[in-house]
Amino acid sequence: MKKIVMKFGGTSVGTGENIRRVAELVTQNAKKGDKVAVVVSALAGVTNKLLEVACQAKRSDEKLIEKFTKELLQKHKEAVADAVTSKQLQKEVNQIIEETIAELEKVLTGICYVGELTPKSKDYVVSFGERLSAPIVWGAIKDFKFETQCFTGKDAGIVTDSNFGDADPLMNFTTHLVRERLGPLMEKGVIPVVTGFIAANQDGIVTTVGRGGSDYTATILGVALKVDEVWICTDVDGIMTTDPKIVLTAKMLPQLSYQEAAEMAIFGAKAMHPRALGPVSKENIPVRIRNAFHPENPGTLITKEPNSNSKEVVKAVAMIKDVAMINVSGATMVGAPGSYAKVFDVLGKNNINVMMISTAVSEANISMIIKRGLLGRAISNLEIALLERGGLVSEVTAEDDVAVIAVMGAYMKGTLGLASRIFAIVAKKGINIRMIAQGSSELNISFVVKEKDGVAVVKAIHEEFNLDKA
Ligand code: ADP
Ligand code: ASP
Ligand code: MG
Repeated sequence: MKKIVMKFGGTSVGTGENIRRVAELVTQNAKKGDKVAVVVSALAGVTNKLLEVACQAKRSDEKLIEKFTKELLQKHKEAVADAVTSKQLQKEVNQIIEETIAELEKVLTGICYVGELTPKSKDYVVSFGERLSAPIVWGAIKDFKFETQCFTGKDAGIVTDSNFGDADPLMNFTTHLVRERLGPLMEKGVIPVVTGFIAANQDGIVTTVGRGGSDYTATILGVALKVDEVWICTDVDGIMTTDPKIVLTAKMLPQLSYQEAAEMAIFGAKAMHPRALGPVSKENIPVRIRNAFHPENPGTLITKEPNSNSKEVVKAVAMIKDVAMINVSGATMVGAPGSYAKVFDVLGKNNINVMMISTAVSEANISMIIKRGLLGRAISNLEIALLERGGLVSEVTAEDDVAVIAVMGAYMKGTLGLASRIFAIVAKKGINIRMIAQGSSELNISFVVKEKDGVAVVKAIHEEFNLDKA
């Protein structure tokens, strides 16, 4: 008998049929005597759509809101019809969905009238995706005659800081509340279904833990509930040598360390939220990335020290697309103590995370990679703060059509000639490298190319290191 948190991503709960299969998997494990808590994402595509509509609502388009909520209702009702067989239960779930969508309509109309979308109201709007999917999963589990209870992340006890859009849990407080609220239920064999991605700050205001954040919700609950394993159930068999949508022959990696997996997540292997492994690695709780629809496949097991024999130098290659490069240059930056600090200070104060940095020894230039969506804010703030301050910086330029390629593996450390081998492959393709960085951990080498060349580079590296034969 095991205690497990099972998380299902948007791809696994994309349709009513799939939700039914999810409920089947959950209840099969519960039948074996496992104590299961379920975390669900919004139906595939819903979070993106909510964000889009929230941004448009700001420009006062009430008709659009009405059309959107109508379609959303239709989509979720269809899912209910396929996921739940009992007419009574269907009615119950549909009622929750109707009430929730009515609330959403009011929120969007409010944004429309005020003409403003703050990070706080944006989080409130996107929280509706999970608030609509979780009741359907709850209904489907109940349909299999299991006791279950539906929670929002907030009701489950996940308390975060107030960094709307990318919040982090206050882990001690969260642990206390989650144990108190979900622990006794699970002991009795009740299956809690918790909305992923959304939580609340200490004032009870809805927050979200970053895109793809249901993975994070799952590991937060896993730690709070001291489970034996956290399962991240998705639409691929596990973490692979590269995105299987780019290279069809990508191979599944059976075991990874927390550090390796985190490195991959940070660098765009979408299979996992970049901060999700933080809580579990501290507590040594194993995480399994597995296919929601092929439970016979054990997936990728992530632990502290994997006992795999694989000593491949390069284990995986990833491409991260939605990024932009900023170059800050100025002759007077040379030898001026604190000049880099000023650049990072400006970005930090504006909540802009720098993903990759590279500088030349001459110090006349610093290049940084940030999320593409933050580019406008980053440039304008750097210009305001630095260009006018007596010429420390003479130019801030940007390129938004770039992608980061990250080549990863634990045994890269100390392997001579690896960088030259990687760059020779890229050169052979006639592709220009715009920026290079190697972390001191030597777990990865990352470089920047034009986005249009990214796929070709990933394919070439995958082939050069025989990753499909791993
Ligand atoms: P979910 O909806 O389950 O959260 P995501 O779309 O967030 O699913 O993540 C799964 C997707 O991640 C896969 O469909 C795959 O295309 C993509 N992906 C990118 N890189 C990798 C990788 N190295 N291994 C596995 N999947 C990857
Ligand atoms: N629904 C959220 C998103 O699309 C969270 C998740 O899917 O993990 O980002
Ligand atoms: Mg995801």
